[in-house]
Amino acid sequence: MHSDGLCKVGRGLGCRGCGCIGDKKMGESRTIAEWQKSAYEQSAKSGFHDKDPVFSEFAANMHSEASEMWEAYRKGELNKPCDKAERMIEPLTCLEEELADIVIRALDTAETFGVDLERAMRVKHAFNGTRPPKHGGKLA
Ligand SMILES: [Mg+2]
Repeated sequence: MHSDGLCKVGRGLGCRGCGCIGDKKMGESRTIAEWQKSAYEQSAKSGFHDKDPVFSEFAANMHSEASEMWEAYRKGELNKPCDKAERMIEPLTCLEEELADIVIRALDTAETFGVDLERAMRVKHAFNGTRPPKHGGKLA
């Protein structure tokens, strides 16, 4: 696959052949901004940015991935290999696949609508640390 650790398939961000960033070694960490760009580019290559973005579609697609995770749980399949595992560079369980899908959709949504997700995460995570237990009385 990558004997020298460099992708030979990708020509920049969003390599479709292996999922890595073309100018980065496998396993090399990326910033969240780089992940945003990569998720957007890969989504664009797949045709999901061929028209003006509709926010409700992006929100629905994120919800859809969470629903897919819920359905896998209902079927008792969270820790089973996902249906695409044999075609992946490493097999993923249903839980791993759907969590990754949720994050990738969020990254693509952030890039599409100009959100600096790393900054937003930093601010919200800090705020969450100031909230009362169970955010003031929620049951779950
Ligand atoms: Mg999915």
